[in-house]
Amino acid sequence: QATSSAAAAAATAPKRVAIVGGGLVGALNAVYFARRGCNVDVYEARDDIRQSKTYSGRSINLALSTRGIQALKDVGLDEMVVATGIPMYGRMIHNPTGGKYVVPYGKDNQAILSVDRRKLNELLLTTAEKLPNVSLHFEHKLTEVDVKARNLTLRAPDRSTITVKPDLVVGSDGAYSSVRRHLLQQPRFNYAQTYIAHGYKELTIPPVDGKFAMEANYLHIWPRHEFMMIALPNQDRSFTCTLFMPFDIFATISTPELVLAFFRENFADAIPLIGQERLVSDFFTNPTSTLMMVKCSPYHIDDFAVIIGDAAHAMVPFYGQGMNCGFEDCTVLHRLLGEHNMDLATALPAYSKERNPDAEAICDLALHNYVEMRHHVTSTSFLLRKKLDSL
Ligand code: FAD
Repeated sequence: QATSSAAAAAATAPKRVAIVGGGLVGALNAVYFARRGCNVDVYEARDDIRQSKTYSGRSINLALSTRGIQALKDVGLDEMVVATGIPMYGRMIHNPTGGKYVVPYGKDNQAILSVDRRKLNELLLTTAEKLPNVSLHFEHKLTEVDVKARNLTLRAPDRSTITVKPDLVVGSDGAYSSVRRHLLQQPRFNYAQTYIAHGYKELTIPPVDGKFAMEANYLHIWPRHEFMMIALPNQDRSFTCTLFMPFDIFATISTPELVLAFFRENFADAIPLIGQERLVSDFFTNPTSTLMMVKCSPYHIDDFAVIIGDAAHAMVPFYGQGMNCGFEDCTVLHRLLGEHNMDLATALPAYSKERNPDAEAICDLALHNYVEMRHHVTSTSFLLRKKLDSL
């Protein structure tokens, strides 16, 4: 009996998988599905970032941690990625008077890694493309999911419309997911989207004489209670700084003089590192971007579609876990597909059931960590606790 139901399930295993979105999570998932023997088509709205001069990712670098590394390990990519990452052994806190101190991330030199978003995405796309059963389709934007007819409509580069009929659709098309938009029309689908009152702006600390201008192996934080700035090291020896602050305050800083006055008051030690001219020019050239959180459930429709990564659980970046959690989605989805012998009718509900509470918990922790990073990290009780922890 068990053998025949396993055989029946295997017969329903998806032969053709359509992955919508070739960002970090979609490209990794393509490798996972291809290694299972499925024929995989990745439909990506942008052009091929490997050929493109510009790259419109959400941040220049990212912190990669254990759950992300584990997912890369499952497909044999961990060593290559870890080798190019810059280990960050702790937070280096910059206080308002210019003093600095370290709060280690763990014991025995435990570290998270600063990785280049674009290079990681390129590596994942190239790895997927090398597999004989993966086809990448750039400038293919999903416009419609017809759940009843089980097909997808896409806009091709010549602006023509094409329709494809996969056995399974995986929506990894990011925080503003089109696949998710179609789940919204399903009965009993829960959805909440929340913008926080804070936005972010990226700035750069260039190298000095080819060297890092600050200690390289830390995640630098300038906590200032209502707002904060962080900086992560890049391979070219620059740092990417991200200023997180309420939009209301961004709006008051409207002239070069006000930028410099604001930095003198709050981030004085960063001015010579960034350089006055560059600070003013980047401040007005670089966008102030929004921060948003999405919670929804379930993550699947019948045995036809599933959403993963930011499409399922976009989170604010303060826990450094958005990509890591999206990578872990691949681990969990494929473990369950294995356990259910690729039977989508049971594996997809099992995925929604197991993954949703964990993903929402990380969304909550990410929001909480903003208060911790910009405020508690400076408070006496936090420092005392850290001191006690290290005894
Ligand atoms: P995305 O990276 O958004 O990729 C989605 C892809 O889908 C894109 O390529 C897009 O072009 C494509 N697409 C969209 N719509 C369509 C369509 N209709 N048809 C076809 N393709 C489509 N996470 C960490 O783990 N560590 C960090 O340190 C970290 N730092 C961050 C800092 C900032 C400032 C921000 C904003 C986020 C940070 N994150 C971090 C979160 C991380 O960026 C996301 O979780 C991650 O990019 C999610 O990957 P994804 O593939 O699900 O979505």
